[in-house]
Amino acid sequence: ENRSVSYDYDAPASAALFDRAQAVTPGGVNSPVRAFQGVGGTPRFMVSGRGAYLTDADGREYVDLVCSWGPMILGHAHPAVLEAAGAALARGTSFGTPSEGEVALAEEMVARIAPLEQVRLVSSGTEATMSAIRLARGFTGRSKVVKFAGCYHGHVDALLAAAGSGVATLALPDTPGVTGTQTGDTIVLPYNDLEAVRAAFAEFGDSIACVITEAAAGNMGVVPPLPGFNAALRDLCHANGALYISDEVMTGFRSSREGWFGIDGVAPDLMTFGKVMGGGFPAAAFGGRADVMGQLAPHGPVYQAGTLSGNPVATAAGLATLRHCTPEVYTHLDATAKTVAQLASDALSEAGVGHRVQFAGTMFSIFFTDAAVNDYATAKTQDTGKFKAFFHSMLSDGVYLPPSAFEAWFVSAAHDDAAIARIAEALPAAARAAA
Ligand code: PLP
Repeated sequence: ENRSVSYDYDAPASAALFDRAQAVTPGGVNSPVRAFQGVGGTPRFMVSGRGAYLTDADGREYVDLVCSWGPMILGHAHPAVLEAAGAALARGTSFGTPSEGEVALAEEMVARIAPLEQVRLVSSGTEATMSAIRLARGFTGRSKVVKFAGCYHGHVDALLAAAGSGVATLALPDTPGVTGTQTGDTIVLPYNDLEAVRAAFAEFGDSIACVITEAAAGNMGVVPPLPGFNAALRDLCHANGALYISDEVMTGFRSSREGWFGIDGVAPDLMTFGKVMGGGFPAAAFGGRADVMGQLAPHGPVYQAGTLSGNPVATAAGLATLRHCTPEVYTHLDATAKTVAQLASDALSEAGVGHRVQFAGTMFSIFFTDAAVNDYATAKTQDTGKFKAFFHSMLSDGVYLPPSAFEAWFVSAAHDDAAIARIAEALPAAARAAA
């Protein structure tokens, strides 16, 4: 099959849908980054996905390097996932009772990730992190939460917080609608800065319930923890009676078969998951130490619930996805991520565009900066104008990148040599456009 098609820039069918969408939905989208605000232009309305490819409303096909922001690790419309979801669908869509699929998915997760003794299923990563910090507060009887600038944990009020002026001052709301009261118990620190964490514990140690961190940061672009950072966070938490929460919503079942835990082996007290574990449906989870999880309702005092939690179609798709994420899949993802990153890096070097490639297991980012990126401040040294030119050239040549310079690029088990060849074809012009 000849995939070396080049596309016109116009996308009239997407543009018409975007007009309709904007009339009835704020910004025309149901999650802000989809609006292409960072890069401009018309967001593409996709109508189908198969393997490594998405097809938009104008009938154009793209190699997908977003993979629904991580979940589609096996590629779109994987036959085993469709079959499992379809079989579950035929039995009914939601019972509001326990069902075996939830047990099987929890068993699969617990069997795979050693520190995960018990899990509770929810429907989004946001719910998972919100519930995990509530549980940490309930378990410790303390109020403060430490998070890191540039780490995203969903749109939980307390976590939509920006750093205050001092190193360990209490956080300010990051958005209207979140009050100072809601962020007043949040401490925002620079990522990868242990001194700042030590200072925060020195000042607020008795009232810190937990530290929550992305297991490896992926939401300011990919910024892995410096060697020893996560282990030191855990040790500081334990020395001070706080819980260490590792947010693996992005890295879970993605950066390795056991997620980031499989890479650094630092056992958290609580972990959060989403994305891959739902196989493209809304399923997420939080879990960890059985003594901590035991504090949840119904047996414990900490309340948490969900009408669609453990939905039978979502759990069937998630379980099928996890079962097909074999060691061979991760070998393939690793090799594919390295190949794509190298091709992009070579093209950018050839065009004289300063950049930096960073990996966290099988996820990676290309930063349009020469600086080493260890935290949000250095991530922001990127030349976003260059990224924008690069993005649009790739898009018009049939490669769908995340529409922001501050996102991870994701590959799937379905990204084969033909998909890589298509990416390789598009790269030189995109790199020249960024020069
Ligand atoms: N935590 C991390 C690390 C994430 O990357 C995300 C989403 O991108 C979330 C939490 C929130 O998950 P959701 O969008 O499912 O609410």
